[in-house]
Amino acid sequence: MPERHASAARTRAASADPEALPGLAPPGPRVSVLMPLPLAGAYDYLGPDDPPLRPGEVVRVPLGGRAVLGVVWDRESGPGSDAGAEPEAVPVERLKWVQGRCDTPPLSEVQRRFIDWVAGYTLAAPGAVLRMALSVPKALEPPRPVTGYRLAEGAEEARAGIKPTPARGKVVAVLADGPARPLAELARAAGVGVSVVKGLVKAGVLETVELAPPAAFEAPRPERAGPTLSPDQDAAAATLRATLKAPCFEVAVLDGVTGSGKTEVYLEAVAAALEGGRQVLVLLPEIALSAQWLERFTGRFGAAPAVWHSELTAAQRRATWRAVAFGVARVVVGARSALFLPFQELGLIVVDEEHDAAFKQEDGVIYHARDMAVVRARLGAIPIVLVSATPSLETVTNVKAGRYRRLHLPDRHGGAKLPAITLVDLRNDKPARIEGLGRSWLSPSLRRAIAETLAAGEQVLLFLNRRGYAPLTLCQACGHRLACPHCTAWLVEHRLAGRLQCHHCGFETRLPARCPACQAEGALAACGPGVERLAEEVAALYPQARTAVMASDTLGGPSAAAALLRAVAARELDLLIGTQVVAKGHHFPHLTLVGVIDADLGLYGGDLRAAERTYQLLHQVAGRAGRAARPGRVLIQTAEPEHPVMQALASGARDRFIEVETEAREGAGMPPFGRLVALILSSPDPAALERAARALARAAPHYDGVQVLGPAPAPLAVLRGRHRRRFLLKARREVAVQKLVRDWVAQVKLPGKLRLQIDIDPYSFL
Ligand code: ADP
Ligand code: ZN
Repeated sequence: MPERHASAARTRAASADPEALPGLAPPGPRVSVLMPLPLAGAYDYLGPDDPPLRPGEVVRVPLGGRAVLGVVWDRESGPGSDAGAEPEAVPVERLKWVQGRCDTPPLSEVQRRFIDWVAGYTLAAPGAVLRMALSVPKALEPPRPVTGYRLAEGAEEARAGIKPTPARGKVVAVLADGPARPLAELARAAGVGVSVVKGLVKAGVLETVELAPPAAFEAPRPERAGPTLSPDQDAAAATLRATLKAPCFEVAVLDGVTGSGKTEVYLEAVAAALEGGRQVLVLLPEIALSAQWLERFTGRFGAAPAVWHSELTAAQRRATWRAVAFGVARVVVGARSALFLPFQELGLIVVDEEHDAAFKQEDGVIYHARDMAVVRARLGAIPIVLVSATPSLETVTNVKAGRYRRLHLPDRHGGAKLPAITLVDLRNDKPARIEGLGRSWLSPSLRRAIAETLAAGEQVLLFLNRRGYAPLTLCQACGHRLACPHCTAWLVEHRLAGRLQCHHCGFETRLPARCPACQAEGALAACGPGVERLAEEVAALYPQARTAVMASDTLGGPSAAAALLRAVAARELDLLIGTQVVAKGHHFPHLTLVGVIDADLGLYGGDLRAAERTYQLLHQVAGRAGRAARPGRVLIQTAEPEHPVMQALASGARDRFIEVETEAREGAGMPPFGRLVALILSSPDPAALERAARALARAAPHYDGVQVLGPAPAPLAVLRGRHRRRFLLKARREVAVQKLVRDWVAQVKLPGKLRLQIDIDPYSFL
C-alpha cells in the first residue's frame, strides 16, 4: 500500500474516505503526520482544534483502509532534505481526520530533528528512521492489567469434586508454593494446555487476581560514593563533571590503556548527569555480554540501569520503552538501537569501545551509532564521551583537529603492568603434528607458555576469531570445496552441531558421506582451524585443564554467557577459547596468558580498515592479560611478524602506528580525509542486474573531486540467492555526497526485483 505514495510530492493526503469524516465543522487545523513506514515524507491530516495536536504527539491515522501510528511532524530538514519549492497542498476537503492520540509524551523536538537528520544523512526514508524510534508499537498503549491465576481458597474441597487427571495435578503442583502466574506462563510451566487451567477455574480450584505491574525501574543513586580515584582518573573525572555542570555539546575522548579504569571514570560523569536531573545513555557494542558491566553499575549506584538489546522479551521492551519516554528510566545501557529511544531529558551519552565495528548497522537504515550519537549530542546540546583503549582513526583525527577533547589515562589501575607482548614467527616456530589429531595450531613456544601458566594455577585465553570447527571442507580426491548454494561462501563445519553452515545466510546441511562432485567416499577433509577444532587439540594436550569455548553461536543467550564469564572470574575454568566476543571489556583477574592463534586472519581482503581493525582487536584481546596483581603475557602467532600491525603490537607503539595509518589514508584521500559511499545493487536475475548496473554507471556523476568506481562484482558476489554489484563513490571531504547520490540514483528507474542499498561511510566492503 505505502509504495503507491512513495514518489508523490512532499505533502500528501491519504485519499479521502467520506466515512472517516466525523462531520465536525469547521475542519480542524491541518497537521503533518510522519508514519513509521518507508514513505518519502509526512502526510497531511485534519487534527482536532481543542486541544490542538502538538508536534511530536503520537497519533493514530487512517492509511489505505487501516489505522496506523504516526507522529505529528513539524519540519523536514537535515543534510539530505531537498530545498525545492513547497509542494502544492492537498485541499482541506480531501484530508482525513486523525483518529486518536496516544498517552505517551510527544517525541521531543531534539528527537524529531535527530530523526530528520539521520534520514537526510543516510538517505533513508524519514519514516524508516522513525520506525526505529517507535520500535515497540505496543508501548504506545497504556499497559493493560495482567490476570494471574492462583489456588483458590478451598481448592482442596473443589478438587475432591472433579476427576484428578495428571494434567490438573501438574497445574496444582506448579502453583502449590509459588506466586500467581499469568495464564500462558502457568500453562507452559505445567506443560499443559490453557484449557486445563480454565477448567480448574470453573471448578473452583483456581481463582484469578490482578497481577501487580512488572517491577518499576529503580532510580540509580548518584550520591553513593564511588571508588577513590587515582590522580589521573580524578583529573579526567573532574573535567567531565565540570562539563556536566553547565551542559553543552562537547565531545570528550576517554583514551586509556586497557584496565586503566575508564569505566570508573565515566561512571563519575554518569553520576554528575544524574545529579543534574538528566537521563543518561550508555552504548556498548555487545550488550548481551555485559553482565560484568551491569554488576559494576549496580554496585556503584545501588540500582540496575535499564537495558536495551535485541534479546529482550516483548514485555521488557514495552516496559523499557515507556519507562524511557515517561522519564522513569534514568540510565539506559544498550546496543546501537538504544540511540532512538524516546528520551525526554537526555543529558549525557557515553559510547564505550567507540572503535568497535559493531556500532555500524549494516541493514535497514544503514548508520554508524557512534557517529549518530555525536549528532544526537550536538542537536541536544549535551556532552558525549567516546571511550576506548584504541580509538578509531576517525576519532583520533577529530582530536588532532581540536574538535574533540582528549582525556588520557596512561597507566593501568593499581599498579598493574601492561602485558608483555611477544611475536611468535610461525615460519620458524612451527606447530608440530600431534599423534591421532594430525595438524596442530599451537606453536612450541605457545605450548610451553600454556603449560607454565596452567602449572602456576593461572588462567589462559586462546583467541581465534573463527567460529565452528573448520572454515573449509575439501575433497582430497578431486579438490572440490563445499560451498553455500545461495552465497559466494564456503560452508563452515560446526562439528558439535553436526552441521555445515553458511555464516552469511544461515544455510545448514549435514556433512555428506561422499564428495558431491566425484562421489569419493571418506575423502572430505576439514581445512584450517575454528575454535571447536582448537578445543579438540587443547583437550588432547591438556586433559586436566577445565576448558570452555566462547563464541557468539555457542553462548546460548545472555544468562548463559554471564554464567560462563562468572565461572572464569571465579577460577572454575583454566582455559578459555574464544572468538572476538571474549575480547571486549571483560576483567579476569587470574588470567595471565593470552595466546593469539592466527593474528593474520583479518589483515587481508581489501578492507580499508583491515590493519586498523586487526590492531584494535588484538590489542583489546591482549588487554585481557595480567589485569590484576600478577603480570600478564601475550603470545601472538603470525606468519608475518614484520607487518606494521604486528610490530606496533609488539613494541607498544600505538601512536606511531596510528600516525602511519593516518598518513596513508590522507595520501589516498580515504576516510576520514575523504568520503566514501557504497552502492550495492542486487537481484536474483543476473541479466537484469547487469542492465541496471550499466544504466547506473551511465548516470554516474562527473564532478571535480568525485570518483566513481565500479560496477564491480561484490566480493560476496551472490548473497542469499541475490547477485550483487558494487559501486564505490569516493569524494573529497567537502563534497555533499548525499545530494550527489540522490540525484544520481533518481535518474535510473530500477525494475521491481532490483534492490539498491546505499551505504554512506561504509565499513563493510563485501
Ligand atoms: P578499563 O575500562 O579502562 O579497561 P576498568 O574500568 O574495567 O578499566 O578497570 C579495571 C579494573 O580496575 C576494574 O576491576 C575496576 O573496578 C578497577 N578499578 C579501576 N579504577 C579503580 C579505582 N579508582 N578504585 C578501585 N578499583 C578500580
Ligand atoms: Zn549462504
